[in-house]
Amino acid sequence: MKSIYFLGECMVELKSIDDTTMRQSFAGDVYNSAVYLKRCFPSLNSGILTAVGDDALSKRMVEQFEQEQINVDFAFVHSTKAPGVYYIQTDENGERSFTYWRNDSAARQIMTFLDDDVIDKLAEADMVFVSGISLAILDNTELNKLWGVLETLRGNGVNIVFDPNYRARLWHSQQEAKSAFDRAFALANTTLPGVEDLAVLYGLKRADKVIQFCREAGCQEIVVKDGPSSVVTSVNGQMEVHPVKPVDHVVDTTSAGDAFNGAYLGARLSGFDVKKAVACAAKAAGTVIQYPGAIAPAEAFNHAMVDFVSA
Ligand code: AMP
Repeated sequence: MKSIYFLGECMVELKSIDDTTMRQSFAGDVYNSAVYLKRCFPSLNSGILTAVGDDALSKRMVEQFEQEQINVDFAFVHSTKAPGVYYIQTDENGERSFTYWRNDSAARQIMTFLDDDVIDKLAEADMVFVSGISLAILDNTELNKLWGVLETLRGNGVNIVFDPNYRARLWHSQQEAKSAFDRAFALANTTLPGVEDLAVLYGLKRADKVIQFCREAGCQEIVVKDGPSSVVTSVNGQMEVHPVKPVDHVVDTTSAGDAFNGAYLGARLSGFDVKKAVACAAKAAGTVIQYPGAIAPAEAFNHAMVDFVSA
């Protein structure tokens, strides 16, 4: 069975329903991608590499992973830390704002669980995915450890996948983010940046410039998400532009990029060529944005993906 592990953080999501009620769910970029990959390609092993706490909410979080058929072999339990939390508030104009409590979350301790035994097991995977958010939650020592682990995995033939997913507020400075991203691009075989991700940090405002930058960094498979209208790929030096049909009725773009990543990587692991993998990923992302929240209802999502989904 082909396998991929997504390294990073899943959080507790709280959303106001009315003045006295909040709805609670779980979300986070790597978790969202793991969910959509598994929903599209149930025969693949989609795992999460994270740390949760030993508390009731963490237990529910892991149950949620299992309900989505995500592999939890590497969902480690930290004895004293708890999961990160974020709260979404929507004002009268529909504008959303986010408040985070994640500075001391269990997931930030993930590297302490990556011993030789875990690394040996990860070396058998086909892909390991990290995002810019996964990097931002690690302190310098942990980040250095991660570079070593990724080098080892890459040396063992694991395809290292990186999505910069730049979130300025998670970094102390642009320079800090840039030096981490430089290292991650150099280690990645595959990268899935959005054009916006690199505009601020590197001044790259067009997909072809992003492709050139990622090629020079050494990535072989580059998939640039260029907003609602196109995706540009470069695989082993072959560049291709893939038009995307814009969705008329956009409800909430949260996790569009995550759904894209999960479906794209699942499609590639399933042997789809790049064109078909992009079509599948664009369909997944275009479906997710028609529903509120990070995780679209399974039945509606699976129905929309029926032409692409493997048995
Ligand atoms: P973004 O989060 O803007 O990077 O978008 C990620 C992916 O979601 C894009 O590459 C598109 O495939 C898809 N997407 C985003 N917005 C739209 C839209 N308005 N219509 C259709 N697809 C979209």
